[in-house]
Amino acid sequence: MTSIDERTGMRRMLEDIRREVLYTADETGLPGFHEAVMAAMAAVPRARFVPQGLESAAFDNGPLPIGHGQTISQPYIVALMSELLRVGKESVVLEVGTGSGYQAAVLSELVQQVYSLELVPELASAAAERLQRLGYQNVEVRQGDGYHGWAEHAPYDGIIVTAAAPHIPQALIEQLRIGARLVIPVGDAYGPQRLMVVTRHKENVDERVILPVAFVPLRHSTADRSPTLH
Ligand code: SAH
Repeated sequence: MTSIDERTGMRRMLEDIRREVLYTADETGLPGFHEAVMAAMAAVPRARFVPQGLESAAFDNGPLPIGHGQTISQPYIVALMSELLRVGKESVVLEVGTGSGYQAAVLSELVQQVYSLELVPELASAAAERLQRLGYQNVEVRQGDGYHGWAEHAPYDGIIVTAAAPHIPQALIEQLRIGARLVIPVGDAYGPQRLMVVTRHKENVDERVILPVAFVPLRHSTADRSPTLH
């Protein structure tokens, strides 16, 4: 069910994203986002991914708390990272940091299959349940430490990390198909962070800085090295 308020909110959210795309075009080198990305943003009801009581802010172009000290990212950043992945209907992608499941839902509109890892068990099960209830059948959520990736389904046509890593995890590069991209915020938890695109080539990798960002930190638990073994 979509209310008039939600339709108005969604229209405003899409306008805000388009405006920010223009403001940041010099920095990102992107004059606009593909219509497929904007259509995916329009298709996913963000109000269903925010905690009860925050629905009225669901279409604001900002991050919101989702519990456990974590956040659902700003819509513009979700669209930007989706755009930077350069994936299509045949692609299989990995997300690290499921959170609310919102970014996974947006990606599911663009690709064939999304695998998503979340470290916090409560967030992983809530997101899995939410995505299932909303009918996203091509998203599989697992609890686990995404620092090590998810080797079982590799290589991926794109990997997106939605928490800031102190450095680029080697396992994620190894799980990229040749020519595929890793989109990842890199930097200290509370220091400057930069959104980066890392492309895996045959012999080397290419790293490009897109713009400054502020993400919650990617945490690293050595106790849980193997998300595929349970
Ligand atoms: N993509 C999410 C927002 C993520 S916030 C959304 O659309 O709502 C970042 C998330 O990364 C948090 O939920 C946090 O618990 C998770 N996280 C942090 N470190 C992680 C790790 N090592 N592996 C997997 N998930 C991690």
